[in-house]
Amino acid sequence: MITTPAMLNWTYAAALNKTEIRIGPGARFAGTSYGVSEELSGIDRMIGTVRHEERHVVRIAAVDPLVPVAPGTSFQYGWSYGGSPVNHFNMGSDAAWGDLNVDEDGNGITDDAAPAPPFEPGTGTVGNGIDTRLSGTGRLSWWPTTQALPVPDLAPWPEESEAVNFTDTNMDEHDNARADWSNPGKNHLTLDRFDD
Ligand SMILES: [Zn+2]
Repeated sequence: MITTPAMLNWTYAAALNKTEIRIGPGARFAGTSYGVSEELSGIDRMIGTVRHEERHVVRIAAVDPLVPVAPGTSFQYGWSYGGSPVNHFNMGSDAAWGDLNVDEDGNGITDDAAPAPPFEPGTGTVGNGIDTRLSGTGRLSWWPTTQALPVPDLAPWPEESEAVNFTDTNMDEHDNARADWSNPGKNHLTLDRFDD
């Protein structure tokens, strides 16, 4: 399993380690990311995958400051990468969550930002009269409106495009081949072949 847990497993229930990445043995084979990245193999795929996951960690640090990370609110664990609804909302011009003096989530408290759904910031959608603003493009990722989308944006969602682009830009197949002295490896039977 190859993941950045604080993105893949984001939850309103607990704070996850924001810098942890997990790399498994599957990262040593030849392949692409989502069929859209450069193909890498062996040691290069492993290193490219680490760079991909590290980019997810960088992204988490870039979006967490966009929500008001206050204890006891839906924002306490930062920008949500999961959960329903998401917490990518700002307070309205009245500086309250949801419509002013309206208890949208029916929990007996008006204008609150509860630590988990239901909560008023997330009950709104653009244009329905809730004075909150959805930050994003409307795509699954809710990429922040204040940040430029990755170019190109070919993976299933922009966060993956960002990580794919980062690896593609910063390394190529066989860049690390001469450092690979394993068996099988790129200096073993056939130069640059990872699996013999
Ligand atoms: Zn990824």
